[in-house]
Amino acid sequence: MFLRIDRLQTELPAPKKKDPNAAAALQELLGGKYGEMSTLGNYLFQSFNFRSKSKLRPFYSLVASITAEELGHVELVSHGVAMLANGPDKDGDETGGANISGAPFEAMQDIRLAGSFFSNAGGSLPVNSNAMSWNADMVTTTGNVVVDLLHNFHLECGARLHKLRVYETLSDPTGREVCGYLLVRGSVHAHAYALALKQITGADITKVLPTPNIPLAKIPECQKYLDEGSHRRLYRFSPEDYREMAGIWGNGEQALPGDPPGELVVVDGPPEGGKIHDLTGTASAFTPDYAPEEMFEVAEKLYKMSR
Ligand code: MN
Ligand code: MN
Repeated sequence: MFLRIDRLQTELPAPKKKDPNAAAALQELLGGKYGEMSTLGNYLFQSFNFRSKSKLRPFYSLVASITAEELGHVELVSHGVAMLANGPDKDGDETGGANISGAPFEAMQDIRLAGSFFSNAGGSLPVNSNAMSWNADMVTTTGNVVVDLLHNFHLECGARLHKLRVYETLSDPTGREVCGYLLVRGSVHAHAYALALKQITGADITKVLPTPNIPLAKIPECQKYLDEGSHRRLYRFSPEDYREMAGIWGNGEQALPGDPPGELVVVDGPPEGGKIHDLTGTASAFTPDYAPEEMFEVAEKLYKMSR
């Protein structure tokens, strides 16, 4: 329902070079205090625990729909991490078999998250940039919708600062694109939680809950998302559900001052998204018994049987 296996929520450019340390920096957006595991985990349990679901349907629908989006963000950052550890897109997998003479992975001793190579072959994990595990202590679910919405507003604002800092450490286009897209989406989520609080409490969000001052227009990677109106959209990830959030994100509410103007809208469907890059099969990291040709043959047979 939530994830399509051949699409990411946005298109990521291929990395210019293999850069496991940049992958480590990006890990902060996965398992850091304000990372995607945190937004997903918080909203997931708040949505499961939500009280008076039927009577408070628009609020429940909002939290649940943002949960669905956050799952896609976990995937997007994971993919960015794995791409940076993998290097530029290649046409095929490594051939010529495994060669373990001469310490082919000696350089991996010196990368920041050596475990990401040793245990995970360059994949992503729910840890921060210092390899500390994301954990359940980062989940807040109080049973009080106002407190939870305020917490979520804080989480999104913190996440945007966090992403800006990671962005400022990266030169590679893959990592910068991940940050640029998520800065825009984080702004939408902070705005949505502020509007929900405005509905319940009557608070003037421009005075009480100003969205943190990170002007999206100053970040080049954000520009195309502003041009296409991503800052005004929330998505429905299921054809049957989430409709009621339009009462909060809609109803004539407008884009934030400073962003391109226009009305807030709920889009009937997921973001158009972008392709998933193929990571390179690396025989030498799976030595000595890996026989890729045989596995590809088996996969090909299974694929045909499935059609
Ligand atoms: Mn997110
Ligand atoms: Mn978010």
